[in-house]
Parts: sequence; C-alpha cells; structure tokens
Amino acid sequence: MSDDPTIFEQIITGDIPGRIVYESDTVAAFLDANPLAPGHTLVVPKEAYERLDEMPAHVATDLWAAVQELTPRIESAVDADATTIGVNNGEAAGQEVPHVHVHVVPRFEGDGGGPIHAVAGGRPDLSEGELDEIAAAIETV
Ligand code: 5GP
Repeated sequence: MSDDPTIFEQIITGDIPGRIVYESDTVAAFLDANPLAPGHTLVVPKEAYERLDEMPAHVATDLWAAVQELTPRIESAVDADATTIGVNNGEAAGQEVPHVHVHVVPRFEGDGGGPIHAVAGGRPDLSEGELDEIAAAIETV
C-alpha cells in the first residue's frame, strides 16, 4: 500500500468505517457512502492503482470476477431489476477517488435514470474516414 493511503485503502484496513460486503486476497467491495440507489456498491482492488491500465492483469481479472459474482447478489439484496456497472477512469471522466473502483448501481423499472450512453457530452458527427483512423490508432497503439 502507498505511504498516503486512499480513502478506500483506509476502509479496507478498518481505519475508517465502511460496510464491507466482499473481501478476497486482492479485491474488496463495500457500499457507497452516497449511493445513487439502494445497494450501490464499489468493487476495488485492495491496492490503490489510480487507473485501470495500471492494475496488473491478475488483479484486473480478480476485480472483474468479483463484479460478476457480486452483481446478482446485490440485485437480489435490494430486489433490483437490473444494474448499471461502470468506472470513472480519470478525472475528466468524473473520477474523484484516485483508486480504481467499479460502481455497481442497482436499477429499477421506472427509476428515472438513463443508460450508460447518457454519461458523455454531445455525440460527435464522425465521418467514415475519421472512424477508420480512430480504429487504426486503437489497433496499433
Ligand atoms: P468516483 O467519482 O471517484 O467514481 O466515485 C467515488 C465514489 O466514492 C462516490 O460514489 C462516493 O460516494 C464514494 N465515496 C467517497 N467517499 C467515500 C467514503 O468515505 N466511503 C464510501 N463508502 N464511499 C465513499
């Protein structure tokens, strides 16, 4: 763990209170303190990596496995109809805590929320050429 522990590391070590609902060697999950819905859960690597790409592959694998295992349990606990699952990966995307965390947000029929397509700004009007260039850049980076 780093010298300056993140708030999530402090929850995991018990230095600040948190409602931990899952723990393995590499991953923990706890209820979000300011939930968007009942059951809103954060699934985190125990070690503080700021961005997704900084996590070792085995930790990323464990993290996603925990999300997959926990999601039906969370849905069942709060009788949700569905879940929205997402990561704010970097400040410009709204990340406030510099410690990777997967939001699992229970969703209910008629809850007034939107799909994940609603999170970005205005949709760009990209030409076929621009789409080809972007695809090539992603493929070759
Ligand atoms: P971000 O914007 O970084 O993706 O989300 C950070 C999340 O952490 C927010 O949903 C916020 O409510 C949650 N959070 C911030 N501080 C605490 C805390 O002390 N305890 C818990 N359980 N959640 C927190």
